[in-house]
Amino acid sequence: MAARCLALMAALAASLLFLAGCGAPAALESNTYSMGTVCSQHIYGSQTALSGGTALLEELDSALAWRNTESEIAQLNQAGTAALSPTAYAAVKRALELAESTGGAFDPTLGVLTREWNISDADTARILTRQEAAALTRYVDYRAVTLDDANRTVTLGQGQALDLGGMAKGYASDALAAYYRESGVSSGFVNLGGNVTVVGKRPDGAAYTVGVRDPAGSASDLFATVQVQDASVVISGAYERYIEGPDGAVYHHILDPSTGYPAESDLLSSCIISADAALADAFSTAVFVLGSEAGMALVERTEGAECLLLRKDGRILMSAQFEALYAPTFVEGKPYAR
Ligand code: ADP
Ligand code: MG
Repeated sequence: MAARCLALMAALAASLLFLAGCGAPAALESNTYSMGTVCSQHIYGSQTALSGGTALLEELDSALAWRNTESEIAQLNQAGTAALSPTAYAAVKRALELAESTGGAFDPTLGVLTREWNISDADTARILTRQEAAALTRYVDYRAVTLDDANRTVTLGQGQALDLGGMAKGYASDALAAYYRESGVSSGFVNLGGNVTVVGKRPDGAAYTVGVRDPAGSASDLFATVQVQDASVVISGAYERYIEGPDGAVYHHILDPSTGYPAESDLLSSCIISADAALADAFSTAVFVLGSEAGMALVERTEGAECLLLRKDGRILMSAQFEALYAPTFVEGKPYAR
């Protein structure tokens, strides 16, 4: 595990190209393991802000991770109904709103399916038959969850389980960015397993340069870079986590809530940039599920979200404001074209 973590950290570090100017103040950095991934913080601020950030990540992880049997979400899944802490309740509410705005392409009630597939754990992952998966989709419907704001009670539909994994890192990034700003951090970034959130600009006044991973390469292989300030860059793709069947077929971790099977997308990856990291995270998953056409339409009708899509046929697609806002540069020699 330690070796894997270190390799991951090196790879992730490379996905954010940070060039400190001469005489720039030193940044404080921390790399910890939380939310199932390496969390890198890089801030211009106090040591207190940095360790507060780490504590916040751990707090969110222990409230939201369904795999952690002690978590509030795990307990809600067990009991079917529960009164939650303000933090966990707000996260569930947000996830349901994002499910609504994506028309259910992002649906946090697919917990029963992710539990059965268990794709992120190669040892216990299992390839479901089409029929098994389809049968389990009857437990997937965000509209079956009821909320009671007054008591912060969440009640799941019969047999349902929540999985906030498609939004958790984005949600945590928003919380972290808010916390940094309150703590007087005017510049920095956090990279939660490839979800990059930038606070302010670089100390030299320039925007941060964030790399967009080439889905065909290793984690440090980029196909584009974008210029970002006060926003999050989130990328979803089939390459991130997957298992292979005995026949060599690939089963990846982004599920289509309507079939219960890995989404058969025409996309290699979907990159969303937004000032709202939870939205960017949920949308990157949803746009991947929806595919290029419906995914682009969703982004275009959503205020404050832009996308850079890479289609399996090698086409690069951008939403209307993407170039003007994020000045993308494309790495030469790649088999992708606009
Ligand atoms: P990653 O976690 O690898 O960065 P995502 O943010 O796209 O990737 O989230 C994928 C995770 O979200 C899966 O591991 C699973 O737990 C959950 N998930 C998969 N498909 C969906 C979906 N259609 N809607 C909501 N959550 C999903
Ligand atoms: Mg996501």
